Amino acid sequence: MRGCYVFAYIEKIIKSCFLNRYGGDFGDSSYLRCVNCGAVYASNFRLYRCPKCGGLLDVVVRDKYWAPKGRGVWRYASMLPLKNGVSLGEGMTPLVKSNLGENLYIKFEGANPTGSFKDRGMALGVTIAKESGASKVVVASTGNTAASAAAYAARAGLKCYVVLPRGNVARGKLIQAALHGAELVMVSGLFDKALEYVVTYGTKYAYPLNSFNPWRLEGQKTLAFEIYEELGCPDYVIVPVGNAGNISAIWKGFKELGELGLCKKLPKMVGVQAEGAAPLATAWQKGLKTPFFIDEPETVATAIKIGKPINWPKAMAAVRESEGFFTTVSDGEILKAQKLLASKDGVGSEPAGAASVAAALKLKLSGTVVAVVTGHALKDPDVVEINAKEVRNAEELVELLER
Ligand SMILES: *Cc1c(COP(=O)(O)O)cnc(C)c1O
Ligand SMILES: [Zn+2]
Repeated sequence: MRGCYVFAYIEKIIKSCFLNRYGGDFGDSSYLRCVNCGAVYASNFRLYRCPKCGGLLDVVVRDKYWAPKGRGVWRYASMLPLKNGVSLGEGMTPLVKSNLGENLYIKFEGANPTGSFKDRGMALGVTIAKESGASKVVVASTGNTAASAAAYAARAGLKCYVVLPRGNVARGKLIQAALHGAELVMVSGLFDKALEYVVTYGTKYAYPLNSFNPWRLEGQKTLAFEIYEELGCPDYVIVPVGNAGNISAIWKGFKELGELGLCKKLPKMVGVQAEGAAPLATAWQKGLKTPFFIDEPETVATAIKIGKPINWPKAMAAVRESEGFFTTVSDGEILKAQKLLASKDGVGSEPAGAASVAAALKLKLSGTVVAVVTGHALKDPDVVEINAKEVRNAEELVELLER
């Protein structure tokens, strides 16, 4: 009998060491489920793919209940797998009634601490990284994931490595990652190549915080909760789609509101891609069940310049289940929407963020529409042209005012 206790004690110690280092244990509060084959696994910080079929995993939080309290993503702790953690006061972003459409609302994610929605995910992701005993985090990024991971890692005292496509990162984002003290690693090629490096090498040495990490997406689902608190459940939610994690996370958030009986009718999810980087929208238009991967995506909206979105199975399911659709907008339409949004609504968006507004203007959907504007204008100052005609000399001021 006594031996038994000793054994159990030793087992407990071994397990706690092992789990801290390699796994993680939330007791029974959540588990992982494969979105492809449905296999379930005990919660594990380090499991990103289904060992049986290679599918993506979802976090399933047991005994969720609706009890918003406090600020930031942790306001929704009762819906999350973790109850508290690292925060920079992310979330709580403005929901602005737009002047550009009848029932159009802008969810301005550029107002997050580092200027994009990525901060929601990093609050959870960096907390998990720390809990798992990691001292290093790694991300591939078109820029915003790098800026966000760098800031949250700094906050948590972790070292951050960002792998970026050389020459394809907007200036504002690069400056942020450098300022927050991340190691910058440039690869020749585009984002998809950078992600390959992280998947192949990064995960061996550091904790990966790209959106194939299901814990990060738990933070991003809080965007749905904020829309619900302010507006109820809209008819459409339009989301710019790159690696396709965000649209999946937002849909998961709404589904959970549905499960709790809070959303009676769930919104239709509309995924927007740029014409030159549209693996999902192309597949959708062709009626294909798998994406139409492209090797050389091209668009001014660098945050969605992605040819092989890793979360495609989740995103396709989100659009299908919600009875929404994928669509495309041209670079011209994106830049026009960016300008309209800035000049008529006072909302400054980077190009990718304005893709959702470009789609809203084009589609003219009926009902309540929320366009998620994913990142801030200052991220990418170089796309905004200030032509000579718009800049005057001081002597012209009076003449200008008198016009
Ligand atoms: C990351 C990002 C996207 C794309 O989000 P995914 O989850 O990769 O689909 C869109 N817009 C901005 C501004 C981003 O930073
Ligand atoms: Zn599986």
